[in-house]
Amino acid sequence: MPKAQETILEIDLKALKHNFEYLKSQTKPGTKLLAVVKAFAYGSDANEIANYLQELGVDYFAVAYIHEGIALRQAGITKPILVLHPQAVNFKLLIDHCLEPSIYSTKILNEFIEIATKEKQTHYPVHIKFNTGLNRLGFAENNVDYLISKLKETTSIKVASIFSHLAASEDLTEKAFTLNQIQSFKNISEDFIPMLGYKPILHICNTSGILNYPEAHFDMIRTGIGLYGFGNSEKENKHFKPIATLKTIISQIHTIEKGQSIGYNRAYKSDAQMKTATLPIGHADGIGRQYGKGKGFVTIHGQRAPIIGNVCMDMIMVNITNIDCKEGDEVIVFGPDSTAEQLAEQVHTISYELITAISQRVKRVFLK
Ligand SMILES: *Cc1c(COP(=O)(O)O)cnc(C)c1O
Repeated sequence: MPKAQETILEIDLKALKHNFEYLKSQTKPGTKLLAVVKAFAYGSDANEIANYLQELGVDYFAVAYIHEGIALRQAGITKPILVLHPQAVNFKLLIDHCLEPSIYSTKILNEFIEIATKEKQTHYPVHIKFNTGLNRLGFAENNVDYLISKLKETTSIKVASIFSHLAASEDLTEKAFTLNQIQSFKNISEDFIPMLGYKPILHICNTSGILNYPEAHFDMIRTGIGLYGFGNSEKENKHFKPIATLKTIISQIHTIEKGQSIGYNRAYKSDAQMKTATLPIGHADGIGRQYGKGKGFVTIHGQRAPIIGNVCMDMIMVNITNIDCKEGDEVIVFGPDSTAEQLAEQVHTISYELITAISQRVKRVFLK
């Protein structure tokens, strides 16, 4: 791999393939795989990632919002795309780009039927979302009769899938709760399908659900974080390879005398002579201010250098007093060895938050 000469997010498509194949190997033959590529494929690059997954034979994609789906269509994605949280204002655009809405409430159902009818659609695929305990989006179990009556009134839409989302699939102390969600999803589908008269795809598992509840894979699994190389525990992480390495370089090295301060608000004051390196990455690139004041760290020549003082918009300063390095040397913020999850833990957050925050101004470089 060539050394970084600026801040880059290097994305290893071989690692993505490994994660994809591992997840597939955990399912029965015939189980479909939906790749969740919302939020720029968790901060990597939705277009490249989705195109590569399409080559690998993924069955479905999901994004959160309609505009994310439009971008994928424009990048050449032809597989079905489920929009998890569509807004009615964009329904015409959704139809124009053959995106498939999650229908989670009576209001959104009526709004979608109205526009699908106006646009002269027949059997337009929609996905009915049920709330089985997350209490975020979805119909209640006792909405089934109403839903069926609405669906029988129209030929504009058809149900491509029914699904739900687990609240605590990674937390084995919540196993009873999760099993209850799965049972409630089963009850709903056993009610719903005979009344509907045809069989939609059933799906409930996210990455941790796939690993911890193999009996609940149904017809399709939905995976996001696993594809990008993380699980939600050390045990889960073992199976995955982080696909992204955030690299930067040393712009300048300073020798700081005892009593001098470093950065804005003089947040760090040195109590002895020390050496610092200034790096071209800051909170506008996704390394939030919470990583400052010694909480976050980077790796230079295999050694940890803590971030000192406040994180600036475009820069951080790190302590390199005991590291043999020079201006222009490569710096790893996170990667396969020093992971995004370990860095995120320093500020009590999760890998999901850190990786999706890496801003679009950081150049993406693909290793194929
Ligand atoms: C984001 C999301 C997923 C993916 O979850 P991971 O834990 O990243 O696998 C699956 N389903 C829904 C409804 C989501 O919003």
